[in-house]
Amino acid sequence: MSKFYEVRRRDGAARIGILSLPGGKKQTPLLLRIDSLNAGEVIINVIHAEDPLFKELFKEDRWDVSRGAVLLPEVHPLFTKMKEAIPSLFVDFFVLSFASNLLNSPRDFVRRIIDARTTIPPDVALWVPAIATAENAALLFYIGADIIDDTNAVIKGYQGIYLMEEEGVRLSELDDLPCNCSICSSLSIDELRHKNNKERASLIAKHNTLLLDKEVKKIKECIRAGNLREYVEMKVRASTFSTAVLRILDMEEEEYFELRIPVARDQGIKANTMESLKRIEVKRFAKRVLERYEPPERKILLILPCSAKKPYSTSPSHAKFIEAIENYRGHIHELILTSPLGVVPRELEAVYPAAFYDIPVTGYWDAEEREWVSSCLRAYLEWKMNNYDVVVAHLSGAYREICASVAEDSGIEIVYTCEANEGTTSRGALNKLKERIAELCGDKQRLSGFEMKSSMIKAMADYQFGIGAGSELVARKEGEEERIKINGKFPSFKLSSKGDVLARIVPEYGLLVLTVKGARRIENLLSLYKVEIGNFVPKGSILAPGVINAGEQIRANDEVVFCGEKAFGVGKAKMSGWEMVESRRGVAVQVRAVEER
Ligand SMILES: [Zn+2]
Repeated sequence: MSKFYEVRRRDGAARIGILSLPGGKKQTPLLLRIDSLNAGEVIINVIHAEDPLFKELFKEDRWDVSRGAVLLPEVHPLFTKMKEAIPSLFVDFFVLSFASNLLNSPRDFVRRIIDARTTIPPDVALWVPAIATAENAALLFYIGADIIDDTNAVIKGYQGIYLMEEEGVRLSELDDLPCNCSICSSLSIDELRHKNNKERASLIAKHNTLLLDKEVKKIKECIRAGNLREYVEMKVRASTFSTAVLRILDMEEEEYFELRIPVARDQGIKANTMESLKRIEVKRFAKRVLERYEPPERKILLILPCSAKKPYSTSPSHAKFIEAIENYRGHIHELILTSPLGVVPRELEAVYPAAFYDIPVTGYWDAEEREWVSSCLRAYLEWKMNNYDVVVAHLSGAYREICASVAEDSGIEIVYTCEANEGTTSRGALNKLKERIAELCGDKQRLSGFEMKSSMIKAMADYQFGIGAGSELVARKEGEEERIKINGKFPSFKLSSKGDVLARIVPEYGLLVLTVKGARRIENLLSLYKVEIGNFVPKGSILAPGVINAGEQIRANDEVVFCGEKAFGVGKAKMSGWEMVESRRGVAVQVRAVEER
């Protein structure tokens, strides 16, 4: 069945793909016109989920027998009619049964779509029929539907409900037609009102469908750009139902999305809503700071506020902080306090998403935001407090309040170098920072350029591949006369040994990229990010069928190492590891460099 659907691009659970139908190739996210079903463009087979055949379908030896299945037919009377009309049927995607029931409860909406999505293979399309509107379409694709249709839009039209991006209204409630579609621009609202019932219903239905069509196009662009999450956060505001759906997804379906959200991308995160705090990227970062990060050995922990410009070091405020502590930086470990990421160690400031988020800065922090950031700081201090002799906080306003409350809870004493209502970059505050740091450190110790660069590369390697990978990568090896070299301008550092590049930081993605030599150097530590391939030498890309096994931790855009009988190389994952194993189609790894064995 999978040979009829190929996912080309992903944005979390949402996908852009190519679906081969009897009527020609179609791109998903797809809006099916129910008319086209009658025209025979789509052929449907009816198999109940309860039917023993349903489970059979997923057995590999049956895959060439069937081209897919409809989960249940009752959702739309058309389907059963078609079954009678065309006896020898097969289909090209899966249809979620009784989908119209989903609109009764946000929890059912979530549960049923996710259950369907996780039951069927990743490389087949899922059709959620008869419920889409311009208001909920983004949410449907965000959860993992690939196909919707115009049934609901048409039915609403026949009920006299005029759909808008956010909601549906009766024609009588409108003073004008707030739309520029071909229908709405061809007549006035009075002309529409005076049409006979049938004609009016048909015109509203057409407008509703055109609006839905426009919405699907917009969603496709969001997936392409990688910002569907931001769009969904904005869209759900229009209805309590959709807001509830997103809340349930964020609270209860973390695992489902964690398996699908890319590890990095070239798009920033716009954290403009409270839901942004719940994003997988935010939770994943906070988790990895505790699990895949080892702070350098320094006696002083300095907590600093974030800056709008990223990486923080490139901002005017951080330039001032760094200047103030410059002579003693070798004694200091810097930790940046921020929302929604919590705490960002200086060495990880170029990592995705630390260098890729934006928040509205007003000085006002919501209770939930405070609680989340506090919990990150508390967890860090409880975990690593023993590393330090003293904690200095150069914070004011809400940052300082958060820090103070965490310190009180954890019984930690903090040296403040800034008053609660004082600007952190004011001359007075900076002088205090400089003086206190000098007092606490005693002897001067600057941070060498090499130390700064190597600690950053080490931290990024640990963050991406797991603890241990970093120190192995930057350590001098036996037989190496000189230590490794690091060149480049912040943060585009390049690590090399004996003239061979081992790794470099790619700031556009917030990732560390390994060369084949670099991967060889830490091969034994890359097991989580290893893709085992068949007996061939890949060129350009490795397709999913060529993958024998892949690390479960791999997510789209992860840097991976691949190896097979004939080849060893490095590349970028284009799908999650589990998807590489389960898929029969699509690019699994984009090859960067390969060595024949
Ligand atoms: Zn219109």
